[in-house]
Amino acid sequence: MIPFVDLSKQHTPIRERIDAKIKELIDRTAFIGGDEVDSFNKEFANYLGVNHFIGCANGTDSIEILLEAMGIGLGDEVIVPAFSWISTSEAVSRVGATPVFVDIHQDHYTIDPTLIEEKITPKTKAIIPVHLYGHPADMDPIMAISEKHGLKVLEDCAQAHGAMYKNKMIGTIGHCSSFSFYPGKNLGAFGDAGGMGTNDSELAAIAKQIAHHGQTKKHTHVREGRNSRLDTLQAAILSIKLPELNSWNDQRIGAANLYLRELDNAKVKLPVAQFGKHVYHLFVIRSNDRSKIIEALGKLNIGYAIHYPTALPFLDCYAECNYSPEDFPRAYVHQHEILSIPMFPGITEEQVIEVSNAIKNAL
Ligand SMILES: *Cc1c(COP(=O)(O)O)cnc(C)c1O
Repeated sequence: MIPFVDLSKQHTPIRERIDAKIKELIDRTAFIGGDEVDSFNKEFANYLGVNHFIGCANGTDSIEILLEAMGIGLGDEVIVPAFSWISTSEAVSRVGATPVFVDIHQDHYTIDPTLIEEKITPKTKAIIPVHLYGHPADMDPIMAISEKHGLKVLEDCAQAHGAMYKNKMIGTIGHCSSFSFYPGKNLGAFGDAGGMGTNDSELAAIAKQIAHHGQTKKHTHVREGRNSRLDTLQAAILSIKLPELNSWNDQRIGAANLYLRELDNAKVKLPVAQFGKHVYHLFVIRSNDRSKIIEALGKLNIGYAIHYPTALPFLDCYAECNYSPEDFPRAYVHQHEILSIPMFPGITEEQVIEVSNAIKNAL
């Protein structure tokens, strides 16, 4: 039996500190706002190397709030990759704008910058590159396009805490960045949590207001906002976990390198690590014999998942757009061939070898 993810491995060494912190906060009845939230915001801003980080309720809200804060809404278009978790396009629609899908690159599976310009219209306001599976999107050409056409760039970093693009931390390259701290992400809370990073003070101030009912201070509402706060408990837990993030990412990279070696001559397409540091939120292989691998892993009780079975344009919620496979040929092939195999900090060498052998034997 090998689980797809085992979060308990991360928690064992820091469990006592987390338990003590939770007890302290219950004793203090400190549940909303306060020092814990302010500290985590500062710590994560420092970790990234941005001037402002604002925690919020989850990663989906962080995209939506940043779009609204940049003044994007009804009648606007936002370019998003054809392959991501639905949050990326959902947030665009939620602010009243229209997601415009662009196909992915065939090797690194993030948005293909060479296909972006043909999708730009006078209504286009922003691009949301997603650092999918922990692999950095190709930011240089994306930033060049954004400058040429006057577009904002919001990096969706939900799967890539600590990844680097050419020695730059992801989340510091675009105008702003969104993060999720969903439990299974590279840095995860004990529930839902997210946040927004930027060097733009004005944008940071507006985003913070929107997430806090439009308040500049208590009972001073300069706009209508919403409630999207980072919980005190989650902030405190994230502060304890953040110093471990680089080591956890290194463990993911170590396991990935072992998979790459063990699966080198297997009949599967392996992930590449282009442009910098891939932090392997997921280790995604591709095969046109996926069902054979799934069957073999199932028999051996080895966990697996598909991220994601349907590319964004082909989801039921976009049926009225009538997209066809020819519109996004790479995303379409991708959805049929991908398989995520066990990957988490603390996965052992024996486990990686066992999974690799199972895959090789299946083919
Ligand atoms: C997880 C994820 C999100 C959203 O995060 P939540 O905290 O679950 O709302 C956004 N984008 C991508 C690519 C994700 O993987």
